[in-house]
Amino acid sequence: MLASAALGEFAALLGAERVFTDPDTLALYASDETPRVCRPEAVLFPVSHEQVAGIVAIANVHRLPLTARAAGSGNVGGALPAPGSVVVSFECMRRIVEFDPDDRLVVVEPGVVTDDIDALAATAGLMYAPDPGSGAYCRIGGNLAMNAAGPRCVKYGATRDHVLGLRAVLGDGREIRSGSRTSKYATGYDLTRLLVGSEGTLAFITEATLKLVPAPQTVATLRVCYAGNQAACDAVLRVMRQPVVPCALEFMDRRSIDAIRDYGGAEGLPSGTEAVLMVEADGDTDDVPRFIAALERALRGDGLLEIQSGFSAADIKRLWTARKSLSHAVKKIAPLKINEDVVVPVSRLAELVDAIDALGREHGVPLVSFGHAGNGNLHVNLMVHADDAEEMGRARACRRALVETVLRLGGSLSGEHGIGSEKRSFVSLELEPDTLDLMRRLKMLFDPLGILNPGKKLPD
Ligand SMILES: Cc1cc2nc3c(=O)[nH]c(=O)nc-3n(C[C@H](O)[C@H](O)[C@H](O)COP(=O)(O)OP(=O)(O)OC[C@H]3O[C@@H](n4cnc5c(N)ncnc54)[C@H](O)[C@@H]3O)c2cc1C
Repeated sequence: MLASAALGEFAALLGAERVFTDPDTLALYASDETPRVCRPEAVLFPVSHEQVAGIVAIANVHRLPLTARAAGSGNVGGALPAPGSVVVSFECMRRIVEFDPDDRLVVVEPGVVTDDIDALAATAGLMYAPDPGSGAYCRIGGNLAMNAAGPRCVKYGATRDHVLGLRAVLGDGREIRSGSRTSKYATGYDLTRLLVGSEGTLAFITEATLKLVPAPQTVATLRVCYAGNQAACDAVLRVMRQPVVPCALEFMDRRSIDAIRDYGGAEGLPSGTEAVLMVEADGDTDDVPRFIAALERALRGDGLLEIQSGFSAADIKRLWTARKSLSHAVKKIAPLKINEDVVVPVSRLAELVDAIDALGREHGVPLVSFGHAGNGNLHVNLMVHADDAEEMGRARACRRALVETVLRLGGSLSGEHGIGSEKRSFVSLELEPDTLDLMRRLKMLFDPLGILNPGKKLPD
C-alpha cells in the first residue's frame, strides 16, 4: 500500500489532477505489449524536469520503486510496473524545446511521439533517421531507453547513433547533463551512450538533443522472392558485401510466407516462394535508379524467383502489402506470440535461420521469423497457447535453446527491443561475471537505493 503521506507529497508537487489512483487508470497503466499485468500503486504525470526530480526525491524518502513509462508499446516488459511501484508517465512532457536546422538538431522532451520528430525535421529537408515500426505512437523517451531501431537503421544506425546529449534525473534526484550540441565531442566519459539503452534503470531522461540528417529526395523498393531461406540469406550477404548500403533490407522466412498465404495476403507472390526480401534504396533522385540497379545485381543468384521494383508511391505500397499483412497473419497460427529479437553477425544469418527451423521441429513450436536481415536482427515469434501448460513448457525450452544458438553464433539476446523483465534471466548467459558485476556497480552509482525501474535489464 502506498503511504498516504507520499501521495500527499506527490499531489503537492504536481497538483492533485496529475496524481491518479483510481482503478481504471491503474488498470490502464498495468501492462505494456507483453501479456503480463501488474497494477501500480499510483500513476503520476509530471510536466517538467523539475517535477520529475521532485518525484524521485519523494520516492527516495519513502523508498518507493518508480517505473518510467512513455507509450507502453515495448514488448519486453520494460514499462511493466514493478510490484508496489508508482508509474511515472512521460506522456505530458511533449514539448519541442528547440529546432535548429542550421546545427541539424532538435531538443525534445521524452513524451514527444517519434514520427512527429521526423515530420518536424522534414519541414527543413532533414530527417530523424530511427524508424521503429511503432513510430506513429511510441515516444522518444521509450526509444532512448530501449535504443530502438527500425528498417532504416541498416544504413543510418539505431537511436544511440542519433543522440547528441541528454538531461536526466538520477536515482537520488540529482540532475545530470551529458554530451553537447556539437557533432563531435570528447570531454569526459560518454554518459549519453551509457544512458541510451539503459531502460530507465540508471536515470529518467527529461530532455534529449537529437541529431538530424539530410532527408533523401527519393526512396525506391525491391521485393525479391526466393525458393528458400538459404537463397535469401546468401543474397543478404551479397548485398552487404557491395558498396551501396540499402536503407532497408528486411527478410521474411518460409513460415511467415505460409502465414501470409493462409491469411490471404500473398496475392502477387510467385508460386514456390519460400522467402522474401524487401530492399530499399534512398538518395538523390538521379542516384537512386543506379543504387537500385546495383542492389538488383547483388540480389540475383541461385534460388531467385522474381524481382519487382517500385519507384512510385503506389507501387511501393503494393510491394509492401504482403509484409504489412504479416502481423495480422501470424495471429491465425496461435493467440499468443512470444517475441524474441535476436541478432547475429550478418555472415551467420543463414546458420541462424537453419537453426530456427530445426528448433521449431525439435520442440514442436511454430516459429515465425522475420526482421532486419541487413543487421542480422530477426524477430523470432514462438506462436503458442497460454492455457496449454505442456506447450508453454516446450516453448520455454525452445527459447532457451534459441538463445544458446544465437550466442554460439556470436550474436546477442536483443537487437532493438531490449531486455526488460522478460529476457533478464538470459543475460548471464551472454555477459561475463566481471562485466555483469561492473554493470551492477554502475547501477548502484546511478541509483543507490535501486528505485528506478527495479526488476529490469539485469538479472537479480
Ligand atoms: C507494432 C509494434 C512495432 C514495433 N516495432 C519496433 C521496431 O521496429 N523497432 C524497435 O526498436 N522497437 C519496436 N517496437 C517496440 C517498442 O515500440 C519500442 O521498444 C519503443 O522504443 C518503446 O517506446 P514506448 O514509448 O512505447 O516506451 P515504453 O514501452 O513506455 O517504455 C520502454 C522503456 O523505456 C523506459 N522509459 C520510458 N520513458 C523513459 C524516460 N523518460 N527515461 C527513462 N526511461 C524511460 C520504460 O521504463 C521502459 O523500460 C514495436 C512495438 C510494437 C507494438
